[in-house]
Amino acid sequence: MTETLNIDCDLVIIGAGMAGMAASLFAGNRNIETVQVGITSEIIFASGLLDLMGVHPVEGGTTRRDPWQGIENLCRDIPDHPYAKIPPTIIHDAFEELIAFLNASGLVYVRHERQNALVLTPIGTIKPSYFIPRTMWNGVKALETKEPCLIVDIEGLKGFSARQIVSSFKSLWPGLGHATITFPGSANQGEVYLEPLARSLALPQARKALADVLRPYLKDARFLGMPAVFGIQDAHKILSDIEKRMGVPIFEIPTMPPSIPGLRLKETFESNLPTKGVRRFFQKRVMGVQMEGKKFVVQIGDTSPETLIKTKGIVLASGRFLGKGLSADRKQIRESIFDLPVHQPDKRSEWHCYEFLDPAGHPVNRAGLVTDDRFRPLDRSGNAAHDRLFAAGSILAHQDWMRQKCGSGLAIATAYAAVNAFLDI
Ligand SMILES: Cc1cc2nc3c(=O)[nH]c(=O)nc-3n(C[C@H](O)[C@H](O)[C@H](O)COP(=O)(O)OP(=O)(O)OC[C@H]3O[C@@H](n4cnc5c(N)ncnc54)[C@H](O)[C@@H]3O)c2cc1C
Repeated sequence: MTETLNIDCDLVIIGAGMAGMAASLFAGNRNIETVQVGITSEIIFASGLLDLMGVHPVEGGTTRRDPWQGIENLCRDIPDHPYAKIPPTIIHDAFEELIAFLNASGLVYVRHERQNALVLTPIGTIKPSYFIPRTMWNGVKALETKEPCLIVDIEGLKGFSARQIVSSFKSLWPGLGHATITFPGSANQGEVYLEPLARSLALPQARKALADVLRPYLKDARFLGMPAVFGIQDAHKILSDIEKRMGVPIFEIPTMPPSIPGLRLKETFESNLPTKGVRRFFQKRVMGVQMEGKKFVVQIGDTSPETLIKTKGIVLASGRFLGKGLSADRKQIRESIFDLPVHQPDKRSEWHCYEFLDPAGHPVNRAGLVTDDRFRPLDRSGNAAHDRLFAAGSILAHQDWMRQKCGSGLAIATAYAAVNAFLDI
């Protein structure tokens, strides 16, 4: 029989997606004794772009250049949206604190002053986003100036076509060209995957080999764009080194998930959160939570409880269906750990609109937890389910982060509000 480990702390964060990582950072920065539990695999699905507010109203697909104006309009039109519970100055502070951490950890992010930047996507569309990885920023400039630019894809890489990107923009951007290269060391491999290619670029000789392969295609191009592949750690330095060898600004284009910029976020959080005093149980799940007096006892493990964590408070950042914070059977949507009430359409037949691609999005996408102004989930009588149980991120109701393009902003801002509310109570 294995022995159960017992731990005491102030706050348990359930979740290791963007909301859980942000909540752990904010708690660590405030010297709250924190334990984080969750599987870190979800974050690698993210594109690496940190959206604040990109589209509102979603019905018309109205792209927002000014995300702050977008938030103001969103809160006016959807007063139950989680953003409506947080003043814009606090949303701003939350982002700044998280970006300061990422930048200090070597994962550099940049933005326009108060404006969304426009970023090329691998399917040849343009996406508005707020904080952009430094390794993608030259692409924002290239798109703004429309100077001659070469987009390069990699033989054997699925889901990224330089030809498709160029054909989407050719009429607006005449100097845009494309090429396909064999990535050094991956000849005759059939399908190639980005992670080993990215890791290989940690070595200077691999960077030289890549520059040698790219050079003949460059001709009069003033910018060079490639799928996001320029290393996992020190990506900015790796990109700068290849830029020096090539003599032109280079930029990364986000790829389909799983993505290298998502992996960079994951590794940055994983290696740097412990310096904030956060104790982590990654790759473990919360199997149940009980009360002992005023404290929660959180059971974590793989197949049976291995550790019991006694804590004063919990931030529930367990995500939606992908993260497994919500689950659905044929009749209803449930919250998986506490069985908290989930706001959802009255009938199963109302979960989805008739048209799969309805631009308004499906009601099921706006299902989730309803909270009070301190981000405490409500119980069936409409009161806070517990004084010190908070929720953050995509598990919250009345938002459709994917269509509204506010995923990271929602996760970061609500995590910030939840951690500060824990301190206040
Ligand atoms: C395909 C894709 C593309 C994206 N692109 C963008 C983008 O371009 N811009 C942007 O800003 N954001 C993007 N995102 C990220 C998006 O912002 C976040 O996924 C979203 O904010 C939700 O984050 P979350 O932390 O709330 O939930 P999730 O990321 O789903 O994380 C939930 C976490 O809870 C954990 N969990 C659940 N149940 C338990 C349990 N019982 N015990 C322990 N842990 C548990 C899971 O293991 C997981 O770690 C993208 C995400 C995806 C999936």
